[in-house]
Amino acid sequence: MMEQSKQSNIEIIDLKSKIRDIPDFPKKGIVFKDITTLLNDSEALSYSLDALAVPYKNESIHHVASIESRGFIFGVPIADRLKAGFVPIRKPGKLPYKTIEVNYELEYGTDKIAIHTDAIKPGDSIILIDDLLATGGTMKAAIELVEKLEGNIIGISVLIELSFLKGRDLLGDYPIHSVLKY
Ligand code: AMP
Repeated sequence: MMEQSKQSNIEIIDLKSKIRDIPDFPKKGIVFKDITTLLNDSEALSYSLDALAVPYKNESIHHVASIESRGFIFGVPIADRLKAGFVPIRKPGKLPYKTIEVNYELEYGTDKIAIHTDAIKPGDSIILIDDLLATGGTMKAAIELVEKLEGNIIGISVLIELSFLKGRDLLGDYPIHSVLKY
């Protein structure tokens, strides 16, 4: 569950116990992983940020890119820890400058996400962060945006992976680091 290297100096925290399950939210049949209870706990928050960032701490990362809105909560502090910049990936109509967009599949219908065209330069080393990997559709779309801008994706980190949904199978060969698996 945790990287061994992170267990040496700080007490091991049971992060799963800090996440609250909300059955039937936002609709029947979904068990929503509520991370507000984890964010509320200073030790659990700090430990989560360390665990998300640890695979990249010896890498030279230009930018951390995250998906709104819960991805932003982790993306910015991780960018700061890695001495990297931050790139927001947002719903269409939210970013003020020139953007590119990609479509992705939802359970019913499609959605879009967008990135500023000048946020990533060709060859920049990028890590992608989100709170949770479910079916993988959102992360796949984020990968496509970074690939269109010719960013070099070094890896993907998520706090929670719902392994039974097999989202990682959609994401090609990029290294995927998930802190907590269900
Ligand atoms: P997906 O595209 O199916 O991988 O969904 C990932 C996005 O939806 C993430 O940004 C999550 O924030 C959100 N999400 C999907 N399923 C859940 C869940 N069970 N609990 C909390 N958030 C979820």
